[in-house]
Amino acid sequence: MLYFVFTTGQCNLKCRYCGGSFPQDLVPWRILYPLRDLIDFIAEDDDATIAFYGGEPLLNAQYIAQVMDHVPAKRFVIQTNGLLFKRLKAEYWRKMDTVLLSIDGREAITDYYRGRGVYRKVLEAAHFLRKIGFKGDLIARMTISSRSDVFRDVLHLLSLDIFDHVHWQLDVVWSPPWDFRSWARRSYMPGISRLIHLWKESLEAGRVLGIAPFLGIARRAKYGGPAPPCGAGQNAFAILTDGRIIACPIAVDVPWALLGHISTHSPGELKGKVGIGEPCTSCEVFRYCGGRCLYAYKERYWGEEGFRAVCQVTKHTIREVLECIDKCAPSEVFSYPSFNNSLEIIP
Ligand code: SF4
Ligand code: SF4
Repeated sequence: MLYFVFTTGQCNLKCRYCGGSFPQDLVPWRILYPLRDLIDFIAEDDDATIAFYGGEPLLNAQYIAQVMDHVPAKRFVIQTNGLLFKRLKAEYWRKMDTVLLSIDGREAITDYYRGRGVYRKVLEAAHFLRKIGFKGDLIARMTISSRSDVFRDVLHLLSLDIFDHVHWQLDVVWSPPWDFRSWARRSYMPGISRLIHLWKESLEAGRVLGIAPFLGIARRAKYGGPAPPCGAGQNAFAILTDGRIIACPIAVDVPWALLGHISTHSPGELKGKVGIGEPCTSCEVFRYCGGRCLYAYKERYWGEEGFRAVCQVTKHTIREVLECIDKCAPSEVFSYPSFNNSLEIIP
């Protein structure tokens, strides 16, 4: 199973769509449980992946090193904005199976949403990882919002030739409403169609472009997968800095997500206490979409209409991928990700 381990609730950035650090009373900024509790908890799962998370996990790089030294997880992953990459020694970076660096696409877009100079810093981190011999999966993790152009921004990151995969999440439902519907019609859905066209041309030429949502949907088409695709509440859980276990790493303040505590619960007791129901379970694309996001499904900040607007773009993306793999699909198309590496699959 996948465990997001918060190393802190603090962040060193304040991105426009996020807001930065968690309040200390919701997610304390330092670890409040003994490391022994985490060791004993993870030891009960012989297929554990730990994904370091925050806030910005590298603000507590010391704890990352401690966990990697002592906790018997099979794989390690980190989701980071990359700015503090020097805080973690090269030997720990090399031991990571997957590194997700947050970057939103072209320099102007990334710096607009994340802060001036961020784009260059992230690329510095990516080049550092390659230089020290990091051999795992390097993923560009984007947030796509109203100023983004999904085609141009994804293409830009692919063209840098440094990331193995590019993944994105839409800035929807967890931030205040914006004019999503017309942007989706005007920019996003046509952009997805153009990206699919490019992906298809590359497949026909024998090259699999690392566009993670397309690969993840293709894999689900062949093998199925959890609902939601990120595994929240099914095969993915988050451990807060005080040891509480929640179903999804952003659901830090909602009672439905609280599942237990690492000192009193075991991994086997967590699965399936919260999940996706109607209207998703009878939706025609449920097999592929899986309800998209547990948090959005439960909270529906944008109301029923906003939820449906996101469904429209999800269905469009799924349809395009299915049509594409129907015609041309080498076996590599169905093999990513090979484990739950913390990607949400459906943007
Ligand atoms: S498209 Fe919408 S209704 Fe259908 S499964 Fe996905 S989230 Fe649920
Ligand atoms: S996709 Fe939704 S449910 Fe899954 S981890 Fe992200 S916010 Fe949580």
